[in-house]
Amino acid sequence: MTDQRVAIVTGASRGIGRAIATRLASDGRHVVCVARSQAPLDELVAEIQASGGAATAKPCDLSDFDATAKMIESVHEELGRLDILVNNAGITRDNLILRMTDEEWDGVIDTNLKSVFVACRAAARPMMRGKFGRIVNIASTSGLVGNSGQANYAAAKSGLTGFTKTIARELGGKGITANTVAPGFIQTDMTKDLPQPVIDGVKSMMAVRNLGTPEDIAACVAYATSDEAGFLTGQTIAVDGGMTMC
Ligand code: NDP
Repeated sequence: MTDQRVAIVTGASRGIGRAIATRLASDGRHVVCVARSQAPLDELVAEIQASGGAATAKPCDLSDFDATAKMIESVHEELGRLDILVNNAGITRDNLILRMTDEEWDGVIDTNLKSVFVACRAAARPMMRGKFGRIVNIASTSGLVGNSGQANYAAAKSGLTGFTKTIARELGGKGITANTVAPGFIQTDMTKDLPQPVIDGVKSMMAVRNLGTPEDIAACVAYATSDEAGFLTGQTIAVDGGMTMC
């Protein structure tokens, strides 16, 4: 069994998840990097190892729920412990409600919400055995205040906040905390194709008048998953440059 705390980070191949994986590795965690595509995971693992960190790549399609549960179990079997779970992977399939298809609805709910339930259920037992756990689910300000064209996405992200509060209550007595981090607009592939007028409009709604970076979110996750954050649980932390303030 490794002496380091083992952290699974989903959606680690790029964007926010990659920044979280890099940060947790530099904080001394053994990071298990999960996404569908193998090549960027291998590249990230090599980068972490080259800078003295510990990491493993675990390709997995989280919308395949059996594969997700097996992936979590295999991490515990191979590394002997599971301390931290960051459910960050997410997709958008935007459309106005009148045009939204069942496939767009189901695809987003499966990847952004149900996979998180499946992963947390599989992680709870090993964390209970270790009498320690830190779960962070990455939601969105869309789930806090809504966003036109994102009924599926906002429903999934809003669902995460209620789900996370509930597991925080259920698992708190076992040394396991669960929190939601809700990013505002962050510069990643997910937001790179937004038209400039939309970006300007978003900036004007923010107290800091600028988009965030993946590292801004990683810093918050690093604290929420640290040993010293044992009294922080059931919270939804909006890291959004003062956009929602709710
Ligand atoms: P990106 O689109 O840049 O990255 C998404 C990540 O999720 C990739 O690593 C992708 O890897 C992985 N992923 C997607 N689907 C699956 C799947 N079925 N199984 C496994 N992995 C999957 O997103 P961001 O970094 O921008 O966003 C990360 C999280 O933050 C998401 O949950 C998003 O909803 C949330 N968020 C982002 C905001 C932003 O402004 N960027 C704002 C608010 C919230 P691969 O394709 O290889 O599977």
